[in-house]
Amino acid sequence: MKKLLSAVFVTLALSACTTPEHSSNTSVGSNSLNSPKNIIMIVGDGMGPAYTTAYRYFNDDPTTVEIEQSVFDKHYVGSSSTYPAKVSGYITDSAAAATALATGVKTYNDAISVDTNKKPLLTVLEWAKQQGKKTGVVVTSQINHATPASYLSHNENRNNYNAIADSYIDNGIKADVYFGGGWNYFIREDRNLVNEFKAAGFQYIDDYNQLSTLVLNKPVLGLFGDKGLPWALDDKEKHRLSLMTKAATKQLENPNGYFMLVEASQIDWGGHGRDIGAAMAEMDDLAKTIVFLEEYVAKNPDTLVILTADHSTGGLSIGRKTAKSNKDIHSKYLWQPEILRTLSISPEEFAKTFANNNLTLQQVNETLNFEVSSDDMALLLESKHEGIKIFEIYQQLSEEQRQTKKKWIPKVEGPILIAIKKIIDIKTNTGWGSISHSGTHTAVDVPVYAFGKGSEQFKGQIDNTDIAKNIFTLLGKK
Ligand SMILES: [Zn+2]
Repeated sequence: MKKLLSAVFVTLALSACTTPEHSSNTSVGSNSLNSPKNIIMIVGDGMGPAYTTAYRYFNDDPTTVEIEQSVFDKHYVGSSSTYPAKVSGYITDSAAAATALATGVKTYNDAISVDTNKKPLLTVLEWAKQQGKKTGVVVTSQINHATPASYLSHNENRNNYNAIADSYIDNGIKADVYFGGGWNYFIREDRNLVNEFKAAGFQYIDDYNQLSTLVLNKPVLGLFGDKGLPWALDDKEKHRLSLMTKAATKQLENPNGYFMLVEASQIDWGGHGRDIGAAMAEMDDLAKTIVFLEEYVAKNPDTLVILTADHSTGGLSIGRKTAKSNKDIHSKYLWQPEILRTLSISPEEFAKTFANNNLTLQQVNETLNFEVSSDDMALLLESKHEGIKIFEIYQQLSEEQRQTKKKWIPKVEGPILIAIKKIIDIKTNTGWGSISHSGTHTAVDVPVYAFGKGSEQFKGQIDNTDIAKNIFTLLGKK
């Protein structure tokens, strides 16, 4: 069928073009015939296989006997290795991984689409723009964070946040849609990049409500948070990624098609925080986005959707073994996501609330939307006292002693946050491979999902660089 179609196309192309230069272009033409018009690349930051598996059980309908497939399961096509350039060892960070996904080249950790010699690398987004497609980025981090930056910018270090934000104007505007966070970087004392985007013809919005009233065919910058957006659990729109993605597709649709990067950025932040409650809510927002895109591809079959992770984070394990002395011991094989399904506040926000108010056990239960025991309550109170004690010691330090601690200021909620996450881990039987409170990345291969036109290109065991290489090919680059 493919052969027949390209034969028909070559004949049509040849009959339309009579000069030899034109007929030599037929390979690009036949490529475009098999290529999707729109390409949507989605990154679940930190979303290793334990996250997509945990989401299946989180999403399971407890009233039925079977365990329902998740929206991810339906589109699974294979897995991808994620290692960075050898100089950075086997475990990647988000910058090197996003560079591989965006350019097809492995680089060192921290690099934003520059190679190991710090030379800029062409990204699939830049190439798509050069081919006359519209382009967009939709993320839940700040829009100048490592993953979106690796599609839009080139910098030797991901932490140069202001320089990366500046480059979005100074190196030419490369996208038609930018949705995510970033007021702190785009509205600064030394420079107001929002005004510069406006001067360049962009409409600017800073509230999700405005997503439904955007002017079509006019580029848009939408910033909805200081840095990253609030956790899905705390945001006024719990499914803000799907909301932004939906609005972005409307803005990007045009006869030449588009390339869009979507990132569920904060799954990784949940992993670093070893926070299963926050991580599952971020996964749920991503799942809603995929459900929307399933419908979108059904209506727009000329669209390809690819979803993968840049790496896994925190060493999440679905099940844990506690010490024998722990009376909460779960010697059975159990993972119990029930309380995660009803959780209505992030552990971080809960810790702040608990630090600033004298909550009763009943109020704690109402705030968390699940029941804690009196022992749990005792642990929370103990952690609050500890937090107050650490804060008081800090206050008694001289200015000079404080300087040695640099910018670190202890917060009363710090130990409370650790305690509430421990309570949730024990209740759900969730484990983490990291002993540090800022969980590490791990080098496990990550799942790849794809559907729509051209999705068969991403099957099997591949490398993260193959994803960019395939996208370049689908975009007609030789
Ligand atoms: Zn990370």
